[in-house]
Amino acid sequence: MEYDAIICFETHVELKTETKLFCGCRVAYDIPPNTEVCPVCTGQPGALPVLNKKAVEYAIRAGVALDCTINQRSRFARKNYFYPDLPKGYQISQYELPFCENGCLEITGDNGNPYPVGIKRIHLEEDAGKLVHSSDSFDDADYSLVDYNRSSVPLLEIVGDHEQNPLRSIQEARTYLEKLRQILRYIGISDCKMEKGQLRCDVNLSIRPRGAKGFNNRTEVKNMSSFRFMMEALEYEMKRQAEILESGGAIEQETLLFDEVKHITRPMRSKENAPDYRYFPDPDLLEVNLEDKFVNDIRSALPELPHQRVKRIMDEYAIPRDDALILTKDRDISDYFTACASHCRDPKKLSHWIIKELFRLLKDASFAIGECPIAPKDFAELVNLVSQGNVTPGIGRKILDDMFKTGENPESIIHKKGLKPIQDDDQLAVFVDAVMDENPKVVSQIREGNLKPIDFLVGQVMRKSKGKANPKSVIEIIRGKLGL
Ligand SMILES: [Zn+2]
Repeated sequence: MEYDAIICFETHVELKTETKLFCGCRVAYDIPPNTEVCPVCTGQPGALPVLNKKAVEYAIRAGVALDCTINQRSRFARKNYFYPDLPKGYQISQYELPFCENGCLEITGDNGNPYPVGIKRIHLEEDAGKLVHSSDSFDDADYSLVDYNRSSVPLLEIVGDHEQNPLRSIQEARTYLEKLRQILRYIGISDCKMEKGQLRCDVNLSIRPRGAKGFNNRTEVKNMSSFRFMMEALEYEMKRQAEILESGGAIEQETLLFDEVKHITRPMRSKENAPDYRYFPDPDLLEVNLEDKFVNDIRSALPELPHQRVKRIMDEYAIPRDDALILTKDRDISDYFTACASHCRDPKKLSHWIIKELFRLLKDASFAIGECPIAPKDFAELVNLVSQGNVTPGIGRKILDDMFKTGENPESIIHKKGLKPIQDDDQLAVFVDAVMDENPKVVSQIREGNLKPIDFLVGQVMRKSKGKANPKSVIEIIRGKLGL
């Protein structure tokens, strides 16, 4: 039997604020354990939280970008549970009255049509610390250590809607998560690096026979932190649930973990399952009342979103949609393109050179675009030279390789390496004569009316001139000499 999937994410995103959510400790990575901690984020008695305004601004910015209703009133709540990485014995989160509700994120569905994926709510909460177990390290001693540097770092939780426009396939799930990550990066609130734990998700899945209405029980796979494992977990769950239904069984509503070694899902221990968090409003924090001006300022300063940038690049530079999508996948790349484009007379060629040549160099060097040593103005200048036929594409690539290595501009590389194109037709004619002398058979073929081998002669001239000849001029000279 064929099944439809109903998939829904709870995504945790670490916000890129300078400081933690309720204290002045820095948000930092790769620092010694427990060096960014204070009485507040380690839960000392009497220490009081003070809300980080920037984190609220980022939460609202996400809400605006994801078409949510922004609640004027919102409130923090205590989520109570015991775990050694949680020094207060509760996590400050939101329960009733989150900052944002009822949004959507439009993706291209599997059928190729736009599909607005439902977002139920977006709220702010604090992260927990990190446990390091001795079994993770080389020695065999049996102990666990805890690092509170991450404790109370602001997290945004974006909760999908299981009933309003959920995701309908594993492919749509992937598209959604990629798009969500792209938007969050565009609006500058998180780097969303999964390998650093800045984007993690819990994913819910249930299935029903194709076309059926109503919902079966769903399972939740916790704490996925890579696209690959998420896809594997969903595929495994989909198959497992289908087998249960086909054998006449019922799906148990439960929380699962994905075993990354065995590539299967398995239930969490029952103690970890379905906990009662006894939420109640945090008495140490006042209710938040957002002023209209605060929200409107965020709304009007919202950075350009990916779909808006795609459209602008298509309209302003006449770039085909497929290329515009590639150029805008990453905000930094599209920033680089637009910075180049303001100096470039041939935006189409520019786009082509970025996608084909620059991406190759970045990939070989494992560089992000931010590490690219070529100034946009210089890149644009090189494309201008190629576009005007002053430099052949082959020589252009060589110059680009050098620019990437040295960070120098094209003019100085051309000068240093003697790559200046041969403009002088008399000089080119010398090469053409030599090539024609060396290939009498080819020349007579052309004289007999077969024009195809002209390309061969041009290639030979290019070789002799070390690529410095302009192929267009060479063709003209050959034709002239053969009276064509
Ligand atoms: Zn602190």
